[in-house]
Parts: sequence; structure tokens; C-alpha cells
Amino acid sequence: MITTRQKIDIRSLSLDALQKHFIQMDEKSFRAKQVYEWLWKKSCFSFSEMSNISKELRTKLDENFVINNVRIFNSQVSADKTIKNSFILHDTHLIEGVLIPTPGRMTACVSSQVGCSLTCKFCATGYMERKRNLNPDEIYDQVVLIDNQCKQNYGMPLSNIVYMGMGEPLLNYKNVLDSIEKITSEEGLNMAAKRITVSTAGIAKMIKKLGDDQVKFNLALSLHAANDEKRNTIMPINEQNSLKALAEALKYYYAKTKNPVTYEYIIFDGFNDNIQDAEELARFCKHLPCKVNIIEYNPIAFADYLNAGEDKVEAFAEHLRKHGVNTHIRRSRGKDIDAACGQLAIKDAK
Ligand code: SF4
Repeated sequence: MITTRQKIDIRSLSLDALQKHFIQMDEKSFRAKQVYEWLWKKSCFSFSEMSNISKELRTKLDENFVINNVRIFNSQVSADKTIKNSFILHDTHLIEGVLIPTPGRMTACVSSQVGCSLTCKFCATGYMERKRNLNPDEIYDQVVLIDNQCKQNYGMPLSNIVYMGMGEPLLNYKNVLDSIEKITSEEGLNMAAKRITVSTAGIAKMIKKLGDDQVKFNLALSLHAANDEKRNTIMPINEQNSLKALAEALKYYYAKTKNPVTYEYIIFDGFNDNIQDAEELARFCKHLPCKVNIIEYNPIAFADYLNAGEDKVEAFAEHLRKHGVNTHIRRSRGKDIDAACGQLAIKDAK
């Protein structure tokens, strides 16, 4: 009898590998395909629900494999209808993912790591220790669970996914790309790659790798300052990935993919909110086709940064537009439940 600990995580196997296991178990390989479909396309979390699989085979599956599915641990609904979820993983770690409903768009913001090794000063996750990377199926499950939540609460499926929750996606490169492969494939959720955005704090080497891999999804860079000295202060990762290195990597990425890049820019009161800052950002934008999202800041308990005033934000955006930069101001969602950008942190985990 195989104990639970020896069971194989069935979703870590490719279809080929699963078929090989089935042959070893004296089962037909087409059965593996049926099970694979239950696991991914139908997002089934239990062998007992696989109705076209014989009871005998289901028992065998139960004895040999495990489905390490993610479960909703807690959900909170904001006054603006944003839903923040904490998810529990099979090893009891907790992560967070958010459903953001806006007119014409239902967006899931998902995590890619448990905690984060980068220490961005304005971000609550940055004050948590990085425990581990998420597996592709753990990212996939967040999307499935948020999609179900979206259908149940708002009567429609998700339209967009952003990898902007806990963790730095490009430091979990392979699993993030594998999760996107599954989300976009016909064997999975069949969502368009153009509906997915991966947001990075800026790892130049990995941005180039995205170019080499000619990815089809969107890339966003959390820029927040177009001046090395300032960026070093709030994002220590900038010390090894200067703006010059990032610009070179982004140009390389653009040459390979022809995908414009989005720059996320949180305006902090008195730090990066003056016209000189806007000027520097407009200059940075000249490197390649891009757009800028100016994001309202949500103060967190650990840091002293505050949101810039409305007038400053408008003047900043206007200056960028004057320089021909496609600029949008994004109001924060889910602030009252700590679900807004930069606020995700598992309180119990600190
Ligand atoms: S902003 Fe992103 S990369 Fe920076 S600490 Fe937070 S989760 Fe990590």
C-alpha cells in the first residue's frame, strides 16, 4: 500500500508521462487522456468526480496519485465589489488572489510565489519572507477559483488575468510560463494570451528571456521612478537592474516580440510626483512603444509613503500626455479590505 507521502502529484505530469504511468498500471493510454481532461479542462479536484472513469480505476488513481488543489480559505468583499481571497495550499501555506470587477472587464490578480524575496518598500508582500515558488497548477487553480467566483457573483466569466499578486513572476519563470501555457491552451482554459499580463519589478536578464521565448502575453514593468537614485530607494532590485539595463532588456524584448510594454507608476506624495519626475518618465518612455498606468497608492502600515494629491496626479498625467505618452490613471480598488495594489500580505504569516 502506497502512503500519502509517496503519492505522485498528478498535475506535475505531462500527458505523455501520465500515459506512461497508465501503461505501467495496465491501463489503456486513452484513459490517461480522459483523466488529463478532467484535471485541466474540467478543473476537477477529486478522482471521485471523474464520472466516465470506472470505479476500479478511480480507486487505483487514489492509491497512486494526489491532486494538490488550492482551496479558498477566506474571502472578503469590498464596498466596490472587489473580492479578496486567501487561498490555502496543500502544504498549508497561504497566498492571496483578487477578483477586480470594473465596467466591461473582470480581472483576476494572481500570486506567483508564497511571499516575495524582493523588498519593495511600498509593498506589504515585500515585508514577508519568500517561502517558495508556486507550481503551475497552483497558479492555474487561483484562476479557476476566481473565475467560478466571478460567474457566481457577477454572472460572467473572467476577461483578464494579471500576475500582480504576491511574488515576482520572473523569479518563478518556468512555472509562470507553464501556468500561462495551460491557461491559454485548448487542453486548459483556452483564454487568449492577450488577456494576460505579467508584471515584473524588473529583472533585466529575464525580460530578455521573455523576448527569446517570444511570449504572446503582455508585459508590465513596475517602474515607479525613472531615476536610478529614487528607484534604488524604493525598489532595491534596481541596484542590480538599473534603468539603463532595463531599457536595453525592454528594447530587446520589443524587437523580438513586437509587444508594447506597460509601465506601472505609483505616485507617492512628495517623492516622485513632481514635473521633473514626469519629465524623466517621458524620456524613459521614448525607448520603445509603451503606455503608462498611473496607480493610486494605498498606504500600508509598514511604510511611510502616502498617496499624492489629486492635482499632482492630474498635472503629472497631463505632462506625460503633452509628450505624447499614452497615459491612464487607475483608481485603486478594494482598499477597504487591503486588496488593492501593494496591500497583499497574509497577516498570520508574518
Ligand atoms: S511589489 Fe512585487 S516584487 Fe516588489 S515586494 Fe511586492 S510582490 Fe515583491
